Amino acid sequence: MRYVYLDYAATTPVDPRVIEKMLPFFREHYGNPSSVHALGKMAKDAIESARYDVGQLIHAEASEVIFTSGATEANNLALKGAASLYQSKGKHIITLKTEHLSVLDTCRELEKQGFAVTYLTPEKNGILSIEKFEAALRKDTMLVSLMHVNNETGVIQDIEKIANITSQRGILFHTDATQSVGKIALDVTKIPVDLLSFSGHKIYGPKGIGALYLRRKPRVHVAAQLHGGGQERGIRSGTLPTHQIVGLGEACRILKNERAELEQHLQICREKFLKGLHSISFKVNGDIEKCFPGILSISFEHWKARDLVERLKTLAFGIGSACLSKGTEPSHVLKALGLADSQCANTIRVSFGRFTTLDEIDFAIDQFTARG
Ligand code: PMP
Repeated sequence: MRYVYLDYAATTPVDPRVIEKMLPFFREHYGNPSSVHALGKMAKDAIESARYDVGQLIHAEASEVIFTSGATEANNLALKGAASLYQSKGKHIITLKTEHLSVLDTCRELEKQGFAVTYLTPEKNGILSIEKFEAALRKDTMLVSLMHVNNETGVIQDIEKIANITSQRGILFHTDATQSVGKIALDVTKIPVDLLSFSGHKIYGPKGIGALYLRRKPRVHVAAQLHGGGQERGIRSGTLPTHQIVGLGEACRILKNERAELEQHLQICREKFLKGLHSISFKVNGDIEKCFPGILSISFEHWKARDLVERLKTLAFGIGSACLSKGTEPSHVLKALGLADSQCANTIRVSFGRFTTLDEIDFAIDQFTARG
């Protein structure tokens, strides 16, 4: 039976080139990178080479990259670590209601510790209004966390504008760039972002590895959240998983060369898919002109998302985001865009990627429209 994967925003398959690069680090080069012998040194060199490739993808120095287990950990480390160190500057944090739960729940945790958090509501098109943002700034605002590309709608926030405002006021700026790194242009030498998180498994790398970018000039610090052997400059203790890091590095190196081509391919996929659905009544969530082309959030007029999942078993697509599909609660992202519960229940997320073919899009269109 044919099966078409349209859930790249949840996770991507690992690129075969990445797998090849990882394999020797299971078999031969298995030394602990902290060991002093030749095998250890080999692992350490491979990690430093990967660190360089990871940095290059976002135009960062290798020394600005801290490896974590993924974006959840990177977001936790960024927010808790910065809040802890910079609280003397103020205890107010600003974020957006459409952030990933790894940011929102971390903020709720910080509230319990005495921080005040403003959760801004985006406009109906998903974008944060700059005026609303400026109005929310306070004298004691210490940190702003705003994601680059939304994982449910693909909406792109103007992080450059926001980061320019925060840097002028001496406020730290963190962005969850899990859905944007390697997918849309992102250059930390042009955007004054202080902290940036992302994950390997959204960019054709392995699961269980991610990174936090930590600006060096001007220098930004975070308080460690994991203590132990002092790896990663004492910021994130734990034996470094060489194979995972090598995989992430290779995934980043490939995207550095192929990003523009991928973006074009995704645009073609999205256009074709939307055209193919013309006979069905639906609405795209988020301002399509300001969305990453790899993610489409669609609300059908007459179809329930869960019924579609049941009936279209040959297609893999999401309802809300994979991380949220544990329950029946309507998506907090769609609700923040003003959708009613019934509209949320009629919403699916389709996401395309490197291995999506136009033939697969045709197949998916046939599946959807056969029910129309
Ligand atoms: N942020 C965003 C925007 C995401 O899409 C995800 C993954 N769904 C995460 C953070 C968390 O990433 P991970 O599961 O790799 O920790």
